[in-house]
Amino acid sequence: MGDIDSFFVKYQSKFIMKIKNLLLPFIFIGLSTCSVLAQSKKVKHIVLVGFDGFGAYALLKADMPNLKKMMAEGTYSTHVRTVLPSSSAVNWASMLMGAGPTAHGYTEWDSKTPEIPSTVQTQNGMFPSLFNAVAAKDPKAKFAVVHSWEGIGYLIDRKVVQTVVGTKDDEEATLNTAVDIIKKDKPTITFVHFDQPDGVGHNIGHNTPEYYAELKHVDERIGKLKQAVEDAGIAKETIFVVAADHGGTGKGHGGKSLAEVEIPWVMTGPGVPKSKEIKGTVMIYDIAPTLTWLLRAPLDAAWRGQAIKAFQQ
Ligand SMILES: [Zn+2]
Repeated sequence: MGDIDSFFVKYQSKFIMKIKNLLLPFIFIGLSTCSVLAQSKKVKHIVLVGFDGFGAYALLKADMPNLKKMMAEGTYSTHVRTVLPSSSAVNWASMLMGAGPTAHGYTEWDSKTPEIPSTVQTQNGMFPSLFNAVAAKDPKAKFAVVHSWEGIGYLIDRKVVQTVVGTKDDEEATLNTAVDIIKKDKPTITFVHFDQPDGVGHNIGHNTPEYYAELKHVDERIGKLKQAVEDAGIAKETIFVVAADHGGTGKGHGGKSLAEVEIPWVMTGPGVPKSKEIKGTVMIYDIAPTLTWLLRAPLDAAWRGQAIKAFQQ
């Protein structure tokens, strides 16, 4: 707005005034719908935290003060849809690569390479991820991936992501490593993968007291990662996202029930509306385009997800 106004002070020609009058209704619409996600120039970092098997069905019932504080301070949906099957690798790939399985080609819970040839490949031979898109705009961007489950490692282009640490299912090591990296390196994008509550879901069952007990640990990890962002001094310029790859029912997942295919997406940071629930259709493959857009980098042409900019009422 400020820029537009000073521009008009400089050039008060009739033609320009006419354009301004034409634009005014749109500017008004922009101001009146305060639910619009702003592309803030302040955004310099993304911390994306994914919890394997965290079904959206559990979120509202769970004792998760840190995550609920994020919902109050940010924007969220408890109805984000996974792709099918509602399993891990296929969905982590979709989240990071902005497209569905028949495009990027990772189709199984444990895909290590695409079972379907990727529709396009970067020069490094992989389907483009949000790391590629952000690196294309900012070659100096720093990326870090810390993952509990080994399967994540196969989805990451190590020629682009400088720091990749796998902890072989050690959640505490994942947390501590991610905290250290955020504080020390302040990466442009940090993706942290935790293997819980999926493990409890398989061993004891989804929607059980034990599952909710594990979600308390999940919440503590969220709190510690948020604190790391504060300690790093980058909280005001960081978009912090909590998401998941799938939910579950009984002792499994992979199927088509809403308990399996609905995941949470909770996001805070500069330009993110407060206490705002996203209505309408949001897909797991919208996450990469939204985060790329928030870092003001062009979306990859091969993606099929959308940047969630304006949230329907
Ligand atoms: Zn699982």
